[in-house]
Amino acid sequence: MSGKDEQPRSTIFDIDKTNNFPDWFGEICRVAELADIRYGVKGFTPFPPWSLMTMDNMFDILEEVLQRKDHLPMLFPTVIPESNLTKEAQHVEGFVPQVFWIQDTGEGGKLEERLALRPTSETAIYPMYSLWVRSWRDLPMKRYQRCSVFRSEIKSTRPFLRGREFLWIESHNVFATHDEVKAQVQEDLETTKEVVTDNFGIPVMVFRRTQWDKFPGGLNTYAADTLMPDGKVLQLPSTHDLGDNFARAFDVKFLNENNETVYAWQTCYGPAISRIFGAMISVHGDNKGLRLPFKIAPYQVVVIPIYKGKDAEMVLEYGKNILKNLRKAGFRVYIDNSDNTPGWKYNFWEMKGVPIRVEIGPRDIRDNKAVLFRRDTMKRESIDVKDLKREITNLGKEIDANLLAEAESKFVDLIIDADSIGTIEDALDKGKIARIPFCTTEMEGKPCADEIKDRTGGETRGTRIDIDEKPKGVCTVCGKPATEIVYIARSY
Ligand SMILES: [Zn+2]
Repeated sequence: MSGKDEQPRSTIFDIDKTNNFPDWFGEICRVAELADIRYGVKGFTPFPPWSLMTMDNMFDILEEVLQRKDHLPMLFPTVIPESNLTKEAQHVEGFVPQVFWIQDTGEGGKLEERLALRPTSETAIYPMYSLWVRSWRDLPMKRYQRCSVFRSEIKSTRPFLRGREFLWIESHNVFATHDEVKAQVQEDLETTKEVVTDNFGIPVMVFRRTQWDKFPGGLNTYAADTLMPDGKVLQLPSTHDLGDNFARAFDVKFLNENNETVYAWQTCYGPAISRIFGAMISVHGDNKGLRLPFKIAPYQVVVIPIYKGKDAEMVLEYGKNILKNLRKAGFRVYIDNSDNTPGWKYNFWEMKGVPIRVEIGPRDIRDNKAVLFRRDTMKRESIDVKDLKREITNLGKEIDANLLAEAESKFVDLIIDADSIGTIEDALDKGKIARIPFCTTEMEGKPCADEIKDRTGGETRGTRIDIDEKPKGVCTVCGKPATEIVYIARSY
């Protein structure tokens, strides 16, 4: 805590996000108190209130959508016995290198079987599904859990974007037919658009991943990618058509309507809220700090009373009244009646990304007015206090629409048609995404993708499924007839 004359912390944030994104990101995490990297375990970070309150709002929106689509919550243990984890061969290969193991207890005790901290929960949940799913009447079974998962990422770690423990929701679903699985994949992609784009303001492109880049053990992976300020793409939620592979490995069977015992079909879907939070602040933030969407900001409105000497009591009283009324109307509101100067408070809450500020001084009170400031455009306007609720409601919507529109404008002219490795590299160097005709995203196409990766640093993100595209000509790398159009981007 600080004395009366001393401002507690510097609040002027000024870093060029576009040209200096890594610094911008590291500094905003520190200054806005989003993550504290001093914890001392690589890749594990405490999240202070400002990021956690935002992520909680994000979780709530996602859970509301999932429950509306008939998914029910559940919670599984954090540990998975080794014998479960190793049941599905490809899955083992994909995840075991990332696992943290528990083997010891107390002083020198040993567990009979090693336990994995869940890197994802298929192998925890599906053995129980094999007990819970009995007949076609139990299906579809749509469940999800909100939890953290643990992966010993070998690449460098960064708060939110790449942590060794991250916060997510994983949904695990069982169906009677493969057609229902495909419909669930579509539903998940719609959920992604509704949550990530409509609510968090993050535009995405949706891809079917290549066979070498799919979820280990599944048939197909569909994923949304967004664009970060440094021109690299970041994977946001992915959903997986598991076919009946896991059902066969974990014995998830049911009695169908003809009284035959058959294997079930499954999907899983894993929106990582902590990572989406990292993308959200990166996409919307500006050189002055965070710009949080109105729908998810911990405080949607901050009230700043402005007074000197004898007016103090009256202005504070007026401010508290506004606070009370706005809270009653359902807004998340905070009044900053600290000893700091109004200028300090403005900078601080701008850096924190609060979407709307209400400023009130003695003259506003006399005229029954208040000043509304919007963080996204940094514009002020004076309004009648009686209209405050309506104005805030409208402004909140406007701010969210504007943040999304600004983010979408970055997607314009983003894609460049390339016809050689050289033109792919040119496109990537300019922070663009290259689109090329390609031989195949089946395993036979992997050498071509490897060559692109080696020579340009770009990854083959897959084929678009949100638009219909027909390839012409030959594969840009091997010259065989093209069967698909793929997108190449540098990525996180
Ligand atoms: Zn090829």
